[in-house]
Order: sequence, then C-alpha cells, then structure tokens
Amino acid sequence: MIFKVIYKDKKPIMRQSQLFTRTKKEAPSDEVAKNAKLLIRAGFVDKLQAGVYTYLPLGLRVLKKIENIIREEMNTVGGQEILMPSLQPKENWQTTGRWDTMDDLYKITDTSGRENALGPTHEEIVVPLAKQFISSYRDLPFSTYQFQNKFRMELRAKSGILRGREFIMKDMYSFHRDEADMVAFYEKMKAVYTRVFERVGIGATTFLTYASGGSFSKYSHEFQTITSAGEDFIYICDKCHLAVNKEIIEDQGNACPQCQSKDLRTETSVEVGNIFELKTKYSAPFNLSYKDEEGKDQTVVMGCYGIGLGRVLGTVVEVYGDDNGLVWPAEIAPFSVHLVELGNKDDKTVREEAQKLYDELTRDGVEVLWDDRELRPGEKFAESDLIGIPLRVVVSAKTLAAGTFEIKNRATGEVFMVERAVLLEQCNQCKVK
Ligand code: ATP
Ligand code: MG
Repeated sequence: MIFKVIYKDKKPIMRQSQLFTRTKKEAPSDEVAKNAKLLIRAGFVDKLQAGVYTYLPLGLRVLKKIENIIREEMNTVGGQEILMPSLQPKENWQTTGRWDTMDDLYKITDTSGRENALGPTHEEIVVPLAKQFISSYRDLPFSTYQFQNKFRMELRAKSGILRGREFIMKDMYSFHRDEADMVAFYEKMKAVYTRVFERVGIGATTFLTYASGGSFSKYSHEFQTITSAGEDFIYICDKCHLAVNKEIIEDQGNACPQCQSKDLRTETSVEVGNIFELKTKYSAPFNLSYKDEEGKDQTVVMGCYGIGLGRVLGTVVEVYGDDNGLVWPAEIAPFSVHLVELGNKDDKTVREEAQKLYDELTRDGVEVLWDDRELRPGEKFAESDLIGIPLRVVVSAKTLAAGTFEIKNRATGEVFMVERAVLLEQCNQCKVK
C-alpha cells in the first residue's frame, strides 16, 4: 500500500487554526503559583497531578530553546552528552547509603519483588559508569552531562513548575585527578552558568550565591534569581553582583565574601542552578580510582553541576509575566513574531497579504506563529498578550488601506504603524541568532 504524503512541509505547524491546544479563560482553582496559572491559561503546560506537568507545543518550544542554550554552553567546556536511565537498582543507592537517608526518594517494587529507585539525581549511576572507562591519570579529566527526568517526592509542590515531583534537569558531572584540577574546572563553570542565565534573559536578576557546602567543602554555589515567588532568602552585594544565602550569612560575619562590605540588601529568590565540589563523596564508596604516574591508586575527585529546565522556564514567567499574561525574552520565546490576521471570509486580500508576509519572514528564518483564525479582534489581541510573543504584527483591511502594518512590542506595550521595510527589519531583529 502506498501512503500519500499529506504534509510536505517538514517544519512544525505554525498556524494557530491547526494547533490542537487552546488558551483558557481561567486557570485551575487549585493552582496558586503565578507561573502555573499563566502557563496553563496560555496553553503552554497542562497539569496532570500536583507537581507533574505536560509540556504542550508552545511550552515545549520554550523548554527546547532553554535546553539548546544550556547544551551549547556545556559543550564550550568539553562536556559530553549522554542519557542515563531513570530506573535505578537499589544496590547502587545502598552503596552510597542514600537508599535509607534520602527522604524524597521514590522507591518502587515490581511484581518480581525487585526494588528500584526513580532517579532524583544521577551520581549513583554516573560513578559506576565512569569507573568502566577510568584506569589511568591519562583518562582524566572529563565531564559528562544529560537532560533527564528526575523524580522527587517534594512535600511542597505548590510552586507550579518551579518545584515538580517529576522535572527535567541538566546534570553534569566532572572527573579529575586532584582537587586543584577540579577547582579550576569549577571556576570555569561559574562563568558558564552566568552566561546561561544571561542568555535565557534573567542575567540582571540572577546572582552567584555562596551557600554552605556541607561537610565536604566550605562553599557550594547557587544561582539565585530574585522573585517574590522564591522560597529562598539571599543577601546581595550589588557592587560585586553576588549574594550569600540565609544559612551562611552569619558565618560570613554578615558581610560580602568578596569585598567584606556589610551594605547588603535582602531579597526572596529562587535557585535556578547550583554547582558542588563533590570531591570524593561518591567516588570513594564506588572505589572509583586511577593509577597516577608512579602507578599508585588515587581516588577520583568530582564536581557536579545542575540546572532545572522547568525551574528556569517558570522563573522567567515569574520575573516577566504581567497582568495580561506571559512576556518572553527573545532568545527563548516560542516564536519571534505573532502575525495576527484580522480577516474576513469575503475579503481575500488580507489573507493573501498575511500569507505573503508569513512566507517572507519564514524564508528569512524568523519564527512566526500565524493567527489565521476567524475571531473577534479583541479576543485575538487578548490571546496574543497572554501568549507573550515579543512582537505582534497586525494585518487587517485597515492596515492594508493605509499601506502600513501595526506592530506591538509585548514587553513595553508600545504600538507603532510602520512600513513594510521597517517591519521586516524589526522582525529580523527579534530573530534568535
Ligand atoms: P531546592 O533547594 O530548590 O529543593 P535542590 O538543592 O534540591 O533545590 P539540586 O538537587 O541541587 O536542587 O538540583 C539542581 C537544580 O535542579 C536546582 O538548582 C533547580 O534548578 C532544579 N530543581 C531541584 N529540585 C527541583 C524540582 N523539584 N523541580 C524543578 N526543578 C528542581
Ligand atoms: Mg530539593
């Protein structure tokens, strides 16, 4: 049997009339977090149960853009991407002792009686994996990362996608011959993380934050973004653009760890990422060692580096979302341009003009969501604001008659009437580089 090709275009559907999802008038009454309310109303995510969400076409486009930014940045330090399983044998978790000590671990028993954990993090998997490939000092250093679902029995699942029970994390692990090498890499990762958060659009409100490192090192570092939705509390030194979290500020003598200033302001914040010097915490229990130049066995030294993708997405919504809906920074917007056609069945000229513009912009590599539906203008504009694409372009009988187009900047709310050449230039500026 021969199947006919129905959709010749290999690009995803970008016409709103074809989207199977829709916006909603109301957010579910059990959602309290702004990020979840807006994302659900705008049709970006759907809630399955507390802390568990589906990413719908628009939401997944944003998530994938965040993922790609992180991937590019991890690759700059030589990170090698892998994908490890969620279903993890109990024995691995017993080796580190975390089977019994981790409160938020999901444990499952199958019908054969075998016990597994649903991975909340992957040290228990990546260390025995690395052990197969490390024997000599020549095999070090390296780093490996993945984008993978994590499962945690979070008690407070009230923050929408900021705190999921199932969520996607980028977790990277680095392996070194000694502490000096690990620390040098760790310092590089601070810069890499700073760049990730700048690129996703929250650089100005995200601070490298000193946190207590537990028993293994003096500090770990978190990246904290200021938002009233945050569950954390940080002390910011604006001069150094860094912060200290609540748990260690007293140890710090209530001063900036860099310039010692006591002129710190306090803010609530959310942890979008963190980096840890693991040292030999996980390599020791698995006997992950290498032979040095003298042939002596040495324990491998590790670091780990996490970023929650949904956490980042939700934080962007908390930071930029307004009374009318979502507001996306250009680099992670689901589309760059929202082409809103105010047509009328009997007048083909508006449709033709919209099609022409859509084709031209798409050819230029601009990502366009085309609202080709027959709805009242007010309804379309309200939806456009809710979805939050950076630039809205209106094509209507009115704009056609005037020989111009109407554009609206979602973030500033400014509306302009512009000629075609200016329009094309503006749309191209919005384009993700
Ligand atoms: P928190 O203190 O917020 O619970 P954590 O210290 O447990 O975070 P890690 O285990 O270090 O976080 O995870 C690394 C990153 O994964 C965090 O910086 C955050 O971005 C993200 N993350 C952690 N827990 C969740 C969650 N429940 N939902 C979404 N993202 C999460
Ligand atoms: Mg946690």
